[in-house]
Order: sequence, then structure tokens, then C-alpha cells
Amino acid sequence: MKQVRTTCPYCGVGCGILASPDGRIEGDPDHPANFGRLCSKGSALGETLDIQGRLLAPQIGGRRADWTAALDLVADRFTAAISQHGPDSVAIYGSGQLLTEDYYVANKLMKGYIGSANIDTNSRLCMASTVAGHKRAFGTDTVPGTYEDLDEADLIVLVGSNLAWCHPVLYQRIAAAKAARPALRVVNIDPRMTATSALADLHLQIKADSDVALFNGLLAHLVDTQAIDLDYLNNHVVVCRDAVAAARQSDPRDTGLTPQTLQQFYQLWAGTPRVVTVYSQGVNQSTSGTDKVNAIINCHLATGRIGQPGMGPFSVTGQPNAMGGREVGGLANMLAAHLDIEDADHRAALQAAWQSPAMCTKPGLKAVDLFKACADGRIKALWIMSTNPAVSMPDAPAVADAIRNVPFTVLSDMMARTDTGDCVDVLLPAAGWGEKSGTVTNSERRVSRQRAFLPIPGEARPDWQIICDVAGRMGFDGFDFAGPADIFREYAALTRLSRQFGKDLDLTPLANADYDALPPTQWPVGQSPRFFADGRFFHADGKARMIALKTPALTTPTFRLNTGRIRDQWHTMTRTGKSATLGAHLAEPYAEIHPSDATVLGVAPADLLALGDGQIFRVLISDRVAPGTLFAPMHWTRQTATSGLVNSIPAIGVDPVSGQPALKGAQVTATRF
Ligand code: SF4
Repeated sequence: MKQVRTTCPYCGVGCGILASPDGRIEGDPDHPANFGRLCSKGSALGETLDIQGRLLAPQIGGRRADWTAALDLVADRFTAAISQHGPDSVAIYGSGQLLTEDYYVANKLMKGYIGSANIDTNSRLCMASTVAGHKRAFGTDTVPGTYEDLDEADLIVLVGSNLAWCHPVLYQRIAAAKAARPALRVVNIDPRMTATSALADLHLQIKADSDVALFNGLLAHLVDTQAIDLDYLNNHVVVCRDAVAAARQSDPRDTGLTPQTLQQFYQLWAGTPRVVTVYSQGVNQSTSGTDKVNAIINCHLATGRIGQPGMGPFSVTGQPNAMGGREVGGLANMLAAHLDIEDADHRAALQAAWQSPAMCTKPGLKAVDLFKACADGRIKALWIMSTNPAVSMPDAPAVADAIRNVPFTVLSDMMARTDTGDCVDVLLPAAGWGEKSGTVTNSERRVSRQRAFLPIPGEARPDWQIICDVAGRMGFDGFDFAGPADIFREYAALTRLSRQFGKDLDLTPLANADYDALPPTQWPVGQSPRFFADGRFFHADGKARMIALKTPALTTPTFRLNTGRIRDQWHTMTRTGKSATLGAHLAEPYAEIHPSDATVLGVAPADLLALGDGQIFRVLISDRVAPGTLFAPMHWTRQTATSGLVNSIPAIGVDPVSGQPALKGAQVTATRF
């Protein structure tokens, strides 16, 4: 049977896979993201390919319908809402699971034809704070470094990232680098001791959300010890007013670390030129997420440690195509090709390129606000694609009610029964991984093909085709694509606008490439793989910005609930839940609690604990979490568990800059059940 080169559908590492129609899965030894390595989730993909539970035909009101009726209905109801209530009365909520081609046509439809930017995505829950931090510091959403920097660094600082479970192949890469070069130092900064901590020379178990205090303290230390690079600062950075003064006003003791430990970390960082700071959801999913990102970047800019081998801040994305989504303007506050939605010239150039009848004029509703608008009646038609917000959004029961409150709702999905599917009027069956073709971009800006190797089951269709079919029925031209290759060519050619406006994203060399044979390709194409090697950034003056950052007031709730992934499950388990191998790792929802808190609450191992308004979790007692904190995984849904749903626990905030929800910051009560 013919083996096909494709890319893993799970995390943002973007591993290459050799897949066969009989379900054999191997790591692709030639893919630069993984060189043949796979983690447990990638290795078990062959166990998840059956069509059990799949949505195989459209449904209207819970009854089977044909495609013509379903597509006509969607187009008619969206058109009617727009004509009666205006373009901002409709919305799309997408996903970092969508392929770039799907994402591109969805954004083209909403922003360039309907004329609203009410299209957001579950990437808002993942890395919106990084996007906002990058734009503040660099002038555009640019990831400076590459995975090779992990091989070349002398110090790797992992902040808010359980890489061993959430980006396992990168963890393996760092472990291999450390085995080959024992002098490589690894520091793990996390309120929780995780599987990643085992690799660390130093684990800084900081208080939750004290990251800004820690890195502001580092900046002050760099200034005080003359470890900053004055030449670099003078030539390449605008130090925003009070940036250093604000850093000095922070008290690093807010981290809960001893002065000795702080000095140990600060001296190690200051004394090691080749340092990469890797960060993930512990940074992003916070009410101060954007400030945390900039606190890290500030230290790299102050020392000129960016754009050079083995140096730089490095965001690792959670989803397989969060990066591709960012590139095509997948968030409500972005345009395709990294153009700025607030810039009238950018909007006009994009509209001219599309020759489209309309163009959004302002940023749209970000995820949390989008579902609030559903709840209060502003949204009249909603289309959800490839994601499960009725269980994955914070305050999920309220989000489910909000979806039900919208007069007309559509879900495109692979699966017949999901928590979100139970709330909508129309279900459209979507092709899944292995069945459809397209591209994804991984955390180091590498565009990689997903290729089909399985037949599409039932009447399912690729997302791009469903979106284009609806657009055509709404009377829009510009969606007459023969296939994903056609879409990719249009998008790649469009990125000339990014270069025209002095931005970073240029895929034009791929516009005429052989799409079928496209090898994994990092952008900028054919140039040095690192950005900022020449000290030029994307603000109008060519300089980066060091931002003044205040330390947020830290709250002391009854318990602070930290949430996240476990090693062998992915998101809401619609795919990984099919694998018995993966299910054997951790079989039910649990809450990890410190022994001292367990004593106070009177709970023993394997007892049950009620959190918030009554979600029940199995007790796991461990000093990996700090007193006053709990950890619970995010994966279980109403389809897979009767309780233990972390996002059913309400009352979390959002980052005021990025709009990203603080999914690791719920304040909860806990009682023995
Ligand atoms: Fe897939 Fe991520 Fe595992 Fe690689 S590390 S195999 S991309 S889940």
C-alpha cells in the first residue's frame, strides 16, 4: 500500500508522518520538525481512523438532509440576517485544526465579502497573547527563531510550558541536546512540577501569574550588572518611557522564590549569551498574558539576544495550524498576510487584490465577546467550524446557552455527536485528517503539507469546499476554486502585500511551486531562517519596542485552578478518545492537590473532590502543585464524562490586550464530595 507523506494533526510541533491506508503510521525521517520522532499521540493515529461516530451526511434540525438543501439553507439564512441586521449580525467561529486553505476562504468570505471581521477562532484560547506581544514588540506577529536554536542554545528557559506532555517531540529534542552536551542548562518556570521538570537543572516553582515580576526583576538585574547591550539598544530598540523604571518597581519576591534562587536564575541568564526562552499556555492563558510575553521579550531585546543562533524568545503554539491561521488573518483583529485591520491602506489593498464587494472596517468580536453577543441577541446567524466551544470555552454551559440563543446556527464537524452539535440547527459533515489535503504551519514558520491517504466517508466534504459552496450560493464570485492547490496559490501570491507594506510574511516564491510535491518549507523562503538577524524590526522606524510593564496584583482565591493537557489526550478527545492505548494513560478527570490542602479538606487519594458549583474530580495528592492551587486536565466533555468538566467552572477573566481568556486562572472553592 502506498505510503503518503503528511503532517500530524495535533500539536504545533508539526511532525512529519508517513501514513498508509491500512493505518500504519511512522515518523518521517526526512521532516525537519521531527526527523522521524513521534510522541504517543502521533504514534497512535492509526487507532483513530475508523468512521465510528462520524457525521456522514448533513442534518437539518436533527434529521438527515441532502447537501443542496443544507447549503441553500445556510446561504439563505446568512444572507437574510445580513440584509435585515447588517454584516456584523453574523459570525464564524473557527479552529486551529482547520487547514490554511480552509482558514483562508473562511476569512475571505467574512472580511472581504460579507464585510465583517466577526470571525474568531479557538486560537484565541491558545496564543492570542503571543500575537499581541509580538505586535507590540516587533511591529508584526513574527516568531524570531527556529527549532535549531534549541540545539544551539547553552541555556533553555521553559516558561509555563509542560513540553514533555504538550510538545513531546521538542522535549525529546532538548533532552537529546542535553545528553549530547551536558553543559546545556535547562530552567523550568512553572507553578506546578510537571514531567518537564525532570529535565531541568533548576525548577522555579513561582506563584501563578508572577511571571512579569520575575522577568521585570531580571531586566532590572541586567541593567544593574551592566549586562545589557547598549549598542544594540541604541541602534535597534526604542525603550518605551519608564520601561526600566517599571521593571524596578516590580518586586521579584512576589514570585515566592527566595533571594538566593532569584540570584541563581538571574546570574545564569545574564551570564549565558546563547539563551532561548520557550513559552506556552502558562504565559498566554492569563489576564496578564500579553505583558508576560513582553516581559520575556524585553530581556532578550535588552541584551540583543534575538535573531542569532541559539538566542531568542520562542512561542510554541498549541494547535497544528494556529500559525497558518494567524498568517491568513484567522483572528478577528487581523487581516490575511499579516496586514493590519486598523490600517485603511492595508484594508484597501486587500480588497483590491480580492476585487471583493465589501471589506470589514474594524476589528470583529473576539471569542469571549462573540459568544456574549450570541447571548444578548446581537448575532443572528453563527457558523462554527471544526471546534467544540460548548465545552472548550470558559463558562461552557453559558456558551452552550448562548449558541442556542442564536436564531440560526451551523456546525461543520467530523463527529455526529458533540456538545456543540447538540446546540445547533444544521450539521455539515466535514472531511478529517487523512481524508483531505492542504497545508499547516508549525511553531517555527514551516509550511507543511497534509495529504489525503483515505477515502472521504459518507457524504463528508472538505471544509474549504463547504465554505466556497455557501459563498457561491450567497452570490459571491471569488470562490470558484478547483481545489486546495488553487486556494494556496492565490493566498501565497497575495502575500506580496505583506512585503509591499514592509511586513514579514512572504510566501510568493511558493505561489507557482508544485503543490502536490511541496516539501516542508520554512518562511522566509530561501533566506536566513531567523528573523531580526540584521536588527531590523517591523515598526515604521525599523526598531523594536521595550514595553513598560506593571506587575499585576496577585489574588489569593480559595483555590486557583490551573488547567491543561495530559500526555495522551488532545483537546476534547474526539480523535484521541478512540484509542484504547491513549485512554490507558489517565482514564478519568482528576484534580491534583497539595498534601497540606488535602489534609485541610480531609481528602485521601482517589476520594472525590467537588470544585466550583459541583464538578466532581478524582483526588490525586501530589506536591507537584503548590499549596492553594489545583491542577485538572481540560479534555473531558459531556459526551465522555458525567462530571469533571473544567470549563464548566465559571468566573475567569480575560487579558485586556489580547482578549485571551485566563484558562489557568479560575478561582474555585473545593470541598470533599
Ligand atoms: Fe504530533 Fe505534536 Fe506528537 Fe509531533 S509532538 S507527533 S506534532 S502531537
